[in-house]
Amino acid sequence: MNLVVFGPPGSGKGTQAKLLQETYGWVQLSTGDMLRAAIAAGTELGKKCQAIMAAGELVPDEVVIGIISERYDQPDCAKGAIFDGFPRTIPQARALDSMLKLREKQIDLVIELKVDDKVLIDRVKARIAQSGGVARADDNPETLQNRLNVYYQNTAPLLEYYKRQGKLTTVDGMLPIAQVTSAVAEVIKKAGHKGCLGIG
Ligand code: ADP
Repeated sequence: MNLVVFGPPGSGKGTQAKLLQETYGWVQLSTGDMLRAAIAAGTELGKKCQAIMAAGELVPDEVVIGIISERYDQPDCAKGAIFDGFPRTIPQARALDSMLKLREKQIDLVIELKVDDKVLIDRVKARIAQSGGVARADDNPETLQNRLNVYYQNTAPLLEYYKRQGKLTTVDGMLPIAQVTSAVAEVIKKAGHKGCLGIG
């Protein structure tokens, strides 16, 4: 089972993807986490992406497509992957489809976490307040607005892309975390997929 957890910044993609990994045993593949790890490790790739990410812009498609395909080919992903924060553009979605097809796999399900802008902004503000001054470089009000603009301009068109493929389900991402998790589990159950832990 390969699924995409889809939504704007602050929608709870990472939280739900992590819970899905724990419950079903599919591997969470977060391009944001991978890029932050590259920055922390001071790699060439990290250096290339640091300023772009701090500004809330998208790193080049070929960069994220490269890190995703490399990671997806690790043996642990054979049982399934949860794409979190990827794809974010139509070319990324096309590249993902081709990459999976070559491996005789596919995206089975896309789950959109729908959250109003006002709630997203409040959540990120709360995340900044809780961080005690060590917030992510892109977690500040100005950059957040840019990340939202980038989301609506480049990423939201993917909803139509996946809808046309008949893969999209939307879940209310404004419910409490546990209720979002239950709603997501319900979608997976309806899709008739079993996790490698036999749940679902
Ligand atoms: P959020 O969804 O909260 O904005 P992420 O951790 O998914 O956070 O992403 C943080 C940043 O990493 C993005 O604003 C962007 O600069 C970069 N990034 C992550 N994934 C991608 C991607 N698939 N394509 C391009 N840039 C990406």
